[in-house]
Amino acid sequence: MSLSFEHVTLGQRVRFGSGQAAGHLSAEAERLNAHNVMVIAGEREMFIAEQVAASVEVAVWHSDVVMHVPIETAENARQVALENDVDLLVSVGGGSTTGLAKAIALTTGIPIVAVPTTYAGSEATDVWGLTEAKRKTTGVDAKVLPTTVIYDSELTLSLPVEMSVASGLNGMAHCIDSLWAPKADPINAALAGEGIRALSQGLPKIVADSQSIDGRDEALYGAYLSAVAFASAGSGLHHKICHVLGGTFNLPHAQTHATVLPYVLAFNAPHAPEAEQRAATAFGTDTALEGLQQLRAQVDAPQRLSDYGFTAENIPQAVEIVLEKIPANNPREVTEDNLTQLLTAALNGDDPATLN
Ligand code: NAD
Repeated sequence: MSLSFEHVTLGQRVRFGSGQAAGHLSAEAERLNAHNVMVIAGEREMFIAEQVAASVEVAVWHSDVVMHVPIETAENARQVALENDVDLLVSVGGGSTTGLAKAIALTTGIPIVAVPTTYAGSEATDVWGLTEAKRKTTGVDAKVLPTTVIYDSELTLSLPVEMSVASGLNGMAHCIDSLWAPKADPINAALAGEGIRALSQGLPKIVADSQSIDGRDEALYGAYLSAVAFASAGSGLHHKICHVLGGTFNLPHAQTHATVLPYVLAFNAPHAPEAEQRAATAFGTDTALEGLQQLRAQVDAPQRLSDYGFTAENIPQAVEIVLEKIPANNPREVTEDNLTQLLTAALNGDDPATLN
């Protein structure tokens, strides 16, 4: 086998352990010599943040978290950080909360310790996102990569099962899309394969028992791997489609990823045999689509985009915008016709196998 590739691994400390977040955070604050800690958590996650930061002296608690990080929210939080001479940002929450910490780090360079409570994976990427005048911009900057990630499955026990499933499938989407993304390589493919395996084993356990620490541990571990694979491989067709659906039509992030994934997999898989085989092996099924669909049935996954406000009238505009962003290396040629078919099937929840 001859191999040739260039791979970048992002440097980050991971502290993983159920029930250990408070201890891990105080050790990190000490290691980083932090004196003025700003804890960022939305209103609903503040009770979790209070437990996590119990042994740390906190200079400022900040709860003004808004999905997709509006620029005004970011600027206000940056001001709070500067006024309080903050030297460490601690984010406790999902991708929206991590996103706000990243927005502060982007302009101030203050380090982040991220404590994720969903499976979105933003904590392991150097990608930031901001929304200005209803347009979401994203970028890549080393300053926004959290210095440390603290994973503690106890903190995810309160995440409702439905949201856990959608968020876990968002992680699954990072894995599968990274197999054909612009910078796909054997290293991120190996991480993606293990991420698929861990998520596909963890999510059904959470559905069977929302308080399953085993299931939550596996899902968090899988979410981390998925994000590392995604950060290294970049955005493939699936992420390009979901970015437009979220940014232009304001569809919810995790649910959109969870719904669209089988359609992109069915669309690309016949043209990407190696990726297909890698995913099938990770699922332990004959084909990757079979594995994904079995999992989706087991966890009662979101089914159709029409449930989230997307309509047939939106499709031509979505197609037009997505077509401008198709990665050059996508394994299958994407045309106005076949992309319209893909989005129509996802809108209605049709059988993805019909896209082959
Ligand atoms: P989110 O952070 O908005 O959280 C979803 C919901 O779950 C919210 O209502 C939140 O209050 C609730 N929640 C979170 N943790 C909880 C818990 N433990 N218990 C109870 N409720 C809880 O959504 P998300 O899907 O985690 O993140 C989506 C955002 O992250 C989007 O803006 C997306 O663009 C961004 N994102 C960025 C990257 C990146 O690399 N930059 C990667 C993935 C996602």
